[in-house]
Order: sequence, then structure tokens, then C-alpha cells
Amino acid sequence: LVELEHVEKHYGNLHVLRDINLKVKKGEVLVIVGPSGSGKSTMCRTINRLETIDSGVIRIDGQPLPQEGKALAQLRAEVGMVFQSFNLFANKTILENVTLAPIKVRHMDKTQAEREAMDLLARVGVDSQANKMPSQLSGGQQQRVAIARALAMHPKVMLFDEPTSALDPEMVNEVLDVMVELAHEGMTMLCVTHEMGFARKAADKIIFMADGQILERGTPDEFFEHPQTARAQEFLSKIL
Ligand code: ATP
Ligand code: MG
Repeated sequence: LVELEHVEKHYGNLHVLRDINLKVKKGEVLVIVGPSGSGKSTMCRTINRLETIDSGVIRIDGQPLPQEGKALAQLRAEVGMVFQSFNLFANKTILENVTLAPIKVRHMDKTQAEREAMDLLARVGVDSQANKMPSQLSGGQQQRVAIARALAMHPKVMLFDEPTSALDPEMVNEVLDVMVELAHEGMTMLCVTHEMGFARKAADKIIFMADGQILERGTPDEFFEHPQTARAQEFLSKIL
């Protein structure tokens, strides 16, 4: 469903993605780990074209990423993304946050959008907050709304970039639980995370990035029990 072939990217002199090749099949969960600055966020952002690439190909569902215009808006609708910072629209209610894009981009009628939004908010456990403003919610609740908002577009794939790293510890699990559930329901997911418990529980495959390269790829068992490279061994010894 998601394919990257020979993807290269520079920021000036910095070679931030080096010959990135990966495939994520429909329903698969790929977890991306690696030290700070290794290019994980950049790679994620290239997949919905928040970042351009210098060379290589990215395909979603067999289609190369569109460059601009309507096709790009359509792509963004198909690729849901949840970031580290809570990026809800601060001046809109929780319900409006979730219905806005389906109404504007998918031209869904308001009643149906609201019905679907309430179902999604219930699924992530925040339906009782629907009429509040984002600032009235905890970080964990806001992040669950962000997930519901992305799901409202019926994405083919969900990208998560450290969705729990800005949360207080007691809120981490409520967000991870929603992600695990999504994974079990068959959502195709790419997740950058330092939550190794989540990686073990939910990942089909793990890739380890360092200096813009994929140094290791394998199942959670292979990666955690038998890391091949010194870089990965060192990384694991620091976080486990
Ligand atoms: P972290 O774990 O800290 O989130 P990361 O693996 O997500 O790190 P990236 O954010 O992808 O790393 O950054 C990779 C490298 O690219 C870093 O050295 C970073 O400083 C650099 N970088 C990221 N965004 C830009 C930008 N817009 N302009 C210039 N350099 C950038
Ligand atoms: Mg990052």
C-alpha cells in the first residue's frame, strides 16, 4: 500500500534521507525507531508530501504521489497523520474539529458528518467532550481527538509521529491503547515511537534508522532479541 524506492533528501548539505526503500502492505503496522535526528519525522512527512524529496519514488496504492492541486488534497485525505504536538484547531469545538474536513473536503452533509464524528469520538473514548474546546481537554484526550479527526477522512493509511512523547506519563497508555486497537482492526499504520511496549505489541515490522539510513529491518522479536548492528545495540541498551 505504501512504497518508498530509493528516496533521497537533503536539507542543504545535510543528507537526511539516504536511499530509503520500504514497503508497507495493507493492514500492516510498521514501527520506525532510531536516535534523534535520524530522519524519522522527515521520512513520515514525505509520505503525505509535507516534505518534497530530491529523488526516488513514493507510491500509495500503486500511485506515485501527486505534486500539487486537487490530487494532492485527495492524497492528504487518504493519509491520516497525527503529530507529537496537539494540532487541533483551537477555536473550534471537538466535534467541529472532527467534522470540518469531511464536510469541506469530502462534501459530506453536516448531519452525517456529525453522526460519524460522534461514533469516532466514542470509539476513542471522548464523546462526552464533543462540545468542549480543545484547551479544556487533557493532552491525552486531545491526542485521541486528533486520531478521531484523522479517521473521519477514511484514510487508507495512518502516520503517527511520536504521538505520545509530549504527554504526561499517565496519559500515554490511553493513546497507545487506541493505536493498538486500530492496528488490530486492520488499519495500515506507520508509527514513529519510542514506546517499545507498543512496538512489541502492535508492530508487524520494525525499522531502525540512523543518519538517514535504514540500518535494520525485521520483526519485533528479531529486532529486540537479535539486533544486528552496533548502532541498534547501542540504541536499545539506552532505552530498554
Ligand atoms: P527526533 O527523534 O528528534 O524527532 P527525527 O529522526 O525525527 O528526530 P528529523 O526531524 O527527521 O529527525 O530530522 C533529521 C535531520 O534533519 C535533523 O538533523 C534535523 O535537524 C534536520 N532537519 C529537519 N527538518 C529540517 C528543516 N526543515 N530544515 C533543515 N534541517 C532540517
Ligand atoms: Mg521526529
